[in-house]
Amino acid sequence: MRYLIICLLIVLSIKVGAQTTNELEIQLKERGEVYISILEQEVKANYKLLNNFSFDKNENGRVYYYGNKRAISSIKDKSINIQLEPIPSLLYNIKMLENTAKFSTTWDAYPTYNQYDSLMHKFATDYPNLCKFHTLGSLNSGREILALQLGDSVNIDQNEPQFLYTSTMHGDETVGYIITLRLIEYLLQNYNTNTQVKYIMDNVDIWINPLANPDGTYHTGNSTVNGAIRYNANNIDLNRNYPDPEDGMHPDGNIYQEETEIFMDFADSMHFVMSANLHSGAEVINYPWDTWSQLPADNDWWIYVSKMFADTAQYYSPSGYMTKFGSGYTNGYQWYSVYGGRQDYMNYFHHCREFTVELSNTKLLPESQLLNHWNYIYPSMLNYLEEATYGIKGRVTDSITGYAVKAKVEILNHDIDSSLVYSNDSGYYHRPIYTGTYNVKYSANGYNSKTVNNIVCNIASVKIENVQLLPIIEAINIINDNSIIHIYPNPVFDKVKISSPVSISNIIMYDAVGRLVYEKKNINMNSIFIETSTYKSGIYFIRIAFKSQLVYRKIIIK
Ligand SMILES: [Zn+2]
Repeated sequence: MRYLIICLLIVLSIKVGAQTTNELEIQLKERGEVYISILEQEVKANYKLLNNFSFDKNENGRVYYYGNKRAISSIKDKSINIQLEPIPSLLYNIKMLENTAKFSTTWDAYPTYNQYDSLMHKFATDYPNLCKFHTLGSLNSGREILALQLGDSVNIDQNEPQFLYTSTMHGDETVGYIITLRLIEYLLQNYNTNTQVKYIMDNVDIWINPLANPDGTYHTGNSTVNGAIRYNANNIDLNRNYPDPEDGMHPDGNIYQEETEIFMDFADSMHFVMSANLHSGAEVINYPWDTWSQLPADNDWWIYVSKMFADTAQYYSPSGYMTKFGSGYTNGYQWYSVYGGRQDYMNYFHHCREFTVELSNTKLLPESQLLNHWNYIYPSMLNYLEEATYGIKGRVTDSITGYAVKAKVEILNHDIDSSLVYSNDSGYYHRPIYTGTYNVKYSANGYNSKTVNNIVCNIASVKIENVQLLPIIEAINIINDNSIIHIYPNPVFDKVKISSPVSISNIIMYDAVGRLVYEKKNINMNSIFIETSTYKSGIYFIRIAFKSQLVYRKIIIK
């Protein structure tokens, strides 16, 4: 390993407000950010003053931070001793890929920006039935935020759970960038030969965005990742720039960055059930919440998936990997509080299940170690993906029309802080859940809500609950025109006659809880008798369809 210019590694002790060193000014000017450390006791005494800095790690009595110009000027004239630290993305001279073709054979170099772009296109071109290319948005720099959609039929909406892997929103944390590219290739190449890959691809609508902050990663130019920065082109920490459940819409005091806008639009247009946000700088799984100490509703599920991820990674790696805090996983807030993070944003505002994975202690991992890290981590990544297929799922429909209903699916005495989910536009919902017995309430505007009690769930298994919701009858535009339809008698005893001056096409009848009890299509007559002697007494709803009109009527069977 070749170490870069030693002078960068010289630790300079500076006192902001007194005599700022040239080096700090130069770095702020050239990179827009600095990497510093402060003695732990000084941090404790000035905790609130450091709010504009991005915490990185705690090591040997010092706390490491990234800071931009604003952060540095916010502690100007304060007596805090800051120390410039070696720039993480300049520790090694990273080898770049010679040409795109070599990428998937050697995996021992980083792609240039253009190679990345062509790799993404190439995956979609090589596997048109399994992979679809998407541009999520373009940045002012001209670089793009790209994603690939993977699955058994990416061109047909199968109402599968949607899942997202996204990496490197901190531009100098490049491990996940390469690992997700490799994951794309692995899923495509092994679809026909690996049972787990086939199961995942057949049952999950997978989205992978390898590079969420291309301007940060290619800060020094499209041809190299050497000198990558954490922040984006405006020197903003993208993982502090999202709406926060506790701190509101602009927790960092900045406008939403282009990258943030692109991701929020993307999240709005999707219905992600689960996701993971990949970083590096530590080796640990960080599960919600980051912003507050209150535990998530699904804390036991979070611990289950986090432990599985960490345990599997430990199994496939030399001892010591993914063992921060001993276990390799932690509640976010218990590690350190973050406001404006993407993880909390996805979970709170999109009812998703997103955790953060810190893939390696070294942020910009030397190319020679990429293959090892892939081997340590990919079984965990497949397992986590597979989890999206489990839990309670099904379809919510209108009990009269059979149409999809966008319903709220809430686990009673369990859901808090947006952990409930919604069914999508096609009525499908997916609710990952830990082992237990649950009462689930389904509700939607214009419908009578329904609760299904005692749903028994087990980890790594599927519980299907398809639910029909009965429209609140007042909400339906009933044509109360007796010249169109005549029902006699009502109340009904053993037979009812339905007649009309115009030809009747179809008749459907439902009971009070929305169960279909009678259906006759292609009637094409002006009257029909329905035999009701076997029906239980009660209220029924009849939907009578004419050529271009619907009529709803309520009858009582005695
Ligand atoms: Zn990070």
